[in-house]
Amino acid sequence: MAVNQKIIAELVRRVLEELTEEKGLRSENSSGLHHSVEEAVEHAVKAQKRLIAMSLDSRAKMIAAIRQASLDNNEELSALAVRETGLGRYEDKINENILCATKTPGTEDIQPAALSGDHGLMLLEYAPVGVIGALTPITNPTGTIINNSISMVASGNAVVFNPHPNARKTSTRMIRLLHEAIVDAGGPSGLIGAVREPTLDTAKQIIEHSRINMLVATGGRQVVDVVLRSGKKAIGAGAGNPPVLVDETAQIRKAAHCIVDGASINNNIFCTSEKEVIVVDEVANSLIKFMQETGKAYLINPEDAEKVTALVVTPEGKINPSYIGKNVQVILREIGIELGEEYRLGIFKAHKDHPLVWLEQMMPIMPIVRVKDVKEGIRLAVEVEQGYRHTALMHSTNVEHMTAFARAVQTTIFVKNGPSYAGIGLGGEGHTAFTIAGPTGEGLTSARTFTRQRRCTLVESFRII
Ligand code: NAD
Repeated sequence: MAVNQKIIAELVRRVLEELTEEKGLRSENSSGLHHSVEEAVEHAVKAQKRLIAMSLDSRAKMIAAIRQASLDNNEELSALAVRETGLGRYEDKINENILCATKTPGTEDIQPAALSGDHGLMLLEYAPVGVIGALTPITNPTGTIINNSISMVASGNAVVFNPHPNARKTSTRMIRLLHEAIVDAGGPSGLIGAVREPTLDTAKQIIEHSRINMLVATGGRQVVDVVLRSGKKAIGAGAGNPPVLVDETAQIRKAAHCIVDGASINNNIFCTSEKEVIVVDEVANSLIKFMQETGKAYLINPEDAEKVTALVVTPEGKINPSYIGKNVQVILREIGIELGEEYRLGIFKAHKDHPLVWLEQMMPIMPIVRVKDVKEGIRLAVEVEQGYRHTALMHSTNVEHMTAFARAVQTTIFVKNGPSYAGIGLGGEGHTAFTIAGPTGEGLTSARTFTRQRRCTLVESFRII
């Protein structure tokens, strides 16, 4: 009898626990997920007011909680992202999330500045903009949301995300987890949020909503254009086509390793990844040989290169989305080539007019173009970058060559003698950002990007000297 009572008591406890959890999940206010844009914005407006009434210390606690929740749930989220979107590689997504959780600056990025002089004191503070509408891409659904959440909350804002519809499950799960972390750390409910079913229509509603103060688009050219036409303050982080130029002075073996690693991370879906190699004729054969010797790059012969081009480029000259972010094995199997698991990248010799030199392929298939000398290389690299002002790379030991290329190409990120991901802080100095604002010029975004500058002037007093 006593045993039965114990079992019954335990059952009641579990049912109550489940009911409470279910209630918690259903309550829109506690999950960060909403049925409509209107509801999400309403919660965000209230939450942002509560946030700015709180101390910076409590804000820092929320940021710490976001970092921890991202790390604690990394395996689940990375696996879900690969499964849902079919893009990228699990182990690289893990690193992407660690990078965003640990190297996105927090409240330290909005330190005020003060100036004192004969006429008194001037204080400059970085104030929040209010509620931000953030459109996030299919390529990095987890990294972008971690990165944006830290930056936007650290600067005192609320954010309503509109994730890419094809990354809905991953993105909404991520938002829910981060929302829970914020609330558990004492932060206001509704500070980050999204609609349960994001679509292009909900994106439009966010863009047009009168209570959204700033828009941030991380994606292709089209969505950047849309937010820039909105009439609101907008930050556009758009597409790129990063060329990597190798000259005759480079350490060729090192260059080969860097290019293979940078171009194959996450199957080339990072906007910063090397998308075409331009190499000075004199060292082209060595570069290709060393790339093969990494054991990770497979040299596709000219006949197969034609077949793979016909596969991944549509007759209209666009990238075939079915192969974006896929492993090289999956792509080459379609043309009858079976590769071992160790391969990460397919490379092929290409003419400068080859479509994959000009298109942002976002898959581990890499054209290699030979040029006569570094001058011709710089000219071509600038052309293929197409004014995106995104990322360019160079392998060289000649400072004049590197300076000439950097000056000519004018990109937001310029990486010398390293893999592309060094430019976003992975194995390179500096903070990370997964919203890299080339078109609007903010560069690698951080908390300070999402602020308004406010000045306070105190005249003729308050000096101690
Ligand atoms: P995408 O442009 O298709 O989508 C990005 C987001 O914008 C999604 O949420 C999508 O739903 C929304 N969107 C797209 N068109 C829209 C429209 N007309 N109106 C309103 N919303 C719209 O991009 P993607 O395929 O998800 O991501 C890959 C692209 O993003 C690549 O070009 C890549 O280079 C770029 N990217 C850039 C950065 C950066 O920091 N610069 C970072 C990641 C990705």
